[in-house]
Amino acid sequence: MHDLPSEFTVDTSGDGPIHFRNRPFDRNYVEIAVGGRTAAWMEKSGQKATVAFILEKLRRVAGRQAVLDPVQQIVSAWDGDNCIRGAYSCARPGAADQRPLLACPIDNRLFFAGEATSRNYYASVHGACSSGREAARAATD
Ligand SMILES: Cc1cc2nc3c(=O)[nH]c(=O)nc-3n(C[C@H](O)[C@H](O)[C@H](O)COP(=O)(O)OP(=O)(O)OC[C@H]3O[C@@H](n4cnc5c(N)ncnc54)[C@H](O)[C@@H]3O)c2cc1C
Repeated sequence: MHDLPSEFTVDTSGDGPIHFRNRPFDRNYVEIAVGGRTAAWMEKSGQKATVAFILEKLRRVAGRQAVLDPVQQIVSAWDGDNCIRGAYSCARPGAADQRPLLACPIDNRLFFAGEATSRNYYASVHGACSSGREAARAATD
C-alpha cells in the first residue's frame, strides 16, 4: 500500500473504526487494529472472513488497485484466549473521566488496578503498573 499514509483510520460508520499502520519501520507489512463489537465478530467469524472484511472496507476508500491481496496474514484472537481475555480498554465518548471509578475499593478490602482505571495512562503498561502501585499503597494504608 505504497500510495497510502503511514498511519490512518477508516471510519466504517456503524462497524466502528479500523486503524491501519502502513509499512511500520519501513517493513513490508500492515498492522490493523479494531475493537469492540467488530473485534468480537471477527474472532467468531475466523481469519478468512476477517481478512475479506478488512480488504473490502479498505478497497472501498483506497480503490481496488491500491490494495493487493496479502500473501500472508496473522489474525489475533485475544478475547477467547483464557490467559489474555481481551486487549486493552476503550472508553465510550464522553465517559473517559469515569475510569478512576473502576478503581474504587469495596469495603476497603477489595482493591482494583489495571490500565482501564488510569485517567491519563490507559491502554499502556505504565498505566497498569502505576495503578497497581496505587492500589497496593491504598491497601496497606
Ligand atoms: C497489540 C497491543 C500492543 C500494545 N502495545 C503497547 C505498547 O507499546 N506500550 C504500552 O505501554 N502498552 C501497550 N499495550 C497495552 C498493554 O499491553 C496493556 O495496557 C497492559 O497489558 C494492561 O495491563 P493490565 O494489567 O491492566 O491488564 P492485562 O495485562 O490485560 O491483565 C489482565 C489479566 O486478567 C486476566 N483476566 C481477565 N479476566 C479474568 C477473569 N474473569 N478471571 C481471572 N483473570 C482474568 C487476564 O487473563 C490477564 O492476565 C499494547 C496492547 C496490545 C493488545
